[in-house]
Amino acid sequence: MSFSSKRIMVTGGAGFLGSHLCERLLERGDEVLSVDNYYTGRRTNITHLLSNPRFEALRHDITHPIYVEVDEIYNLACPASPVHYQFDPVQTLKTSVHGAINALGLAKRLKAKIFQASTSEVYGDPTLHPQPESYWGNVNPIGLRSCYDEGKRAAETLFMDYHRQHGVNIKIARIFNTYGPRMHPNDGRVVSNFVMQALRGEPITVFGKGNQTRSFCYVDDLVSGFMKLMDTPDDFLGPVNMGNPGEFTIRELAEVIIEMTGSTSEIIEKPLPPDDPKQRKPDITLAKEKMGWEPTITLRAGLEPTIAYFDRLIKDNVID
Ligand code: NAD
Ligand code: UDP
Ligand code: UDP
Repeated sequence: MSFSSKRIMVTGGAGFLGSHLCERLLERGDEVLSVDNYYTGRRTNITHLLSNPRFEALRHDITHPIYVEVDEIYNLACPASPVHYQFDPVQTLKTSVHGAINALGLAKRLKAKIFQASTSEVYGDPTLHPQPESYWGNVNPIGLRSCYDEGKRAAETLFMDYHRQHGVNIKIARIFNTYGPRMHPNDGRVVSNFVMQALRGEPITVFGKGNQTRSFCYVDDLVSGFMKLMDTPDDFLGPVNMGNPGEFTIRELAEVIIEMTGSTSEIIEKPLPPDDPKQRKPDITLAKEKMGWEPTITLRAGLEPTIAYFDRLIKDNVID
């Protein structure tokens, strides 16, 4: 073991974002412990890291206490796509709330710095556009998305209260839609759905008229932001928005993906899910000012490796 490198725990380390974060921390020279119950994450996301002597993977459900020794914690454990988080809503809430309590309890005992992967969903269906961090949101507390939205809001509260009450060194990132290789092909999120449909020549399912907007951040940009946020001065806690401010309608996204894959798929309309936000675009002024961070990878540049990843999954027939 090296005494100069940091020991970093990543909950949700086998997930889409977590596996990229583990990879980047290892590249920087840190020791990394992935803690994951493989609910939505996959071991294949981290198989390539297992030969690294500075990497360790622990199967553990973060709703239960965990006793390890680390210097920093990134708390990413939580199903992120609506299909997955609505499958077992009670477990989703437990993961956000009990998971945050356990991760914060660990941080408190160890005096370790701790990062929370929050979400733009804390803004709900926003009445203000784009959303600055000072906006309190417009969340339905009893709807189908509430287990995720309110769980993440409660987790933010816990982080702030552990900071105020126990002096825990915290960082909160509000993440906007992010895409890239290792997204789950069947998780129902728009980028993975459209790319898989285009590659298979199946109809592209636009929900509603497709004039709702989203902003799509490529995973490499986002992970750089996570690491920058962790290294900001202790008095900067966030919450800070992280995402790509480029705004596209869902129909535009479908058209770009059809063009880039050279697909013959047609676009069809399906019913809009309940509580589906009409617009979402991050205001990243704070991240620019406090962290000198902004995304640099365009939608087309990020879609290229993403399409290549899904294409490989289909060709190798390894979709679970
Ligand atoms: P993901 O589903 O790929 O990863 C989540 C990981 O957490 C998975 O590996 C899963 O197995 C693990 N996990 C779930 N419940 C757990 C539990 N109880 N104990 C231990 N591990 C558990 O999703 P992702 O896209 O990588 O998201 C990671 C984090 O970022 C989540 O907290 C999510 O809410 C947040 N986020 C993601 C996005 C995005 O666009 N991808 C946007 C906003 C917020
Ligand atoms: N906890 C943990 N690992 C630790 C320290 C605490 O998992 O190293 C858990 C602990 O089981 C508790 C939670 O974190 O349920 C919150 O800890 P805290 O110290 O805030 O609360 P308390 O133990 O006083 O209830
Ligand atoms: N969407 C769509 N077709 C799909 C999947 C999603 O039109 O096959 C839409 C969805 O209704 C939403 C947007 O794409 O307006 C983004 O959905 P996603 O589930 O990726 O993330 P959200 O931002 O809603 O959490």
